Amino acid sequence: MRVDKLLSNIGYGSRKEIKGLLKSGAVKVDGELIKEAKTHIDPNKQEITVHGEPVSYKEFIYLMMNKPPGVLSATEDFRQETVVDLLEIEDAVYNPFPVGRLDKDTEGLLLLTNDGQLSHQLLSPKKHVPKTYFAIINAPVTQEDIDAFKQGVTLDDGYETKPGELNILKADTESEIELTITEGKFHQVKRMFEAVGKKVIYLKRISMGPLPLDESLELGEYRELTEEEVDLLK
Ligand code: URA
Repeated sequence: MRVDKLLSNIGYGSRKEIKGLLKSGAVKVDGELIKEAKTHIDPNKQEITVHGEPVSYKEFIYLMMNKPPGVLSATEDFRQETVVDLLEIEDAVYNPFPVGRLDKDTEGLLLLTNDGQLSHQLLSPKKHVPKTYFAIINAPVTQEDIDAFKQGVTLDDGYETKPGELNILKADTESEIELTITEGKFHQVKRMFEAVGKKVIYLKRISMGPLPLDESLELGEYRELTEEEVDLLK
């Protein structure tokens, strides 16, 4: 990779600014002064320093966010705040994008990465990656609902869902449930409850595949996945 591209990827400014940095003699590779922007380097094998400080470079970044309500699961939007706007600049420079979408009003586990292959794998309908949601429903949830979800329900556009596993935590005038589904149709959880005549009034994703939401993350906070967590996803 070209040294100017690497430095711009990790937030050292525009290509032009980096040219200046190189010209000023700030950049060394394996202890050798590098002034040419087009010099090719291997960040996995060579040590790069800027003003004597080692530069840490990674190809992929994997983040788990506790998405807050009111924020879009998108990389950019002209008018509304997105989950990428919530990232620190040192993470945003890797250009991570959300793995799938949560509705604007949905909270909870959202993965962000720049690893297109892993994202594709997690979202592929063929992989049946389970996603579990906690929800508050505006009515008593019943055994019939459990049975209906187990069979699959018909959404408003005629789509027959795959089986979902519904657990009732509290059945009351407002019920609390957990629902695990292996698909990701638009507004799927809300539309599944509409199919049985009920309404989701609060929705939070609590796990995706093998990863539970790290409950120590406050709404809007995020952290990098550990290597073990990334391996679990692969
Ligand atoms: N199902 C929904 O209805 N909304 C979400 O955000 C996620 C799943």
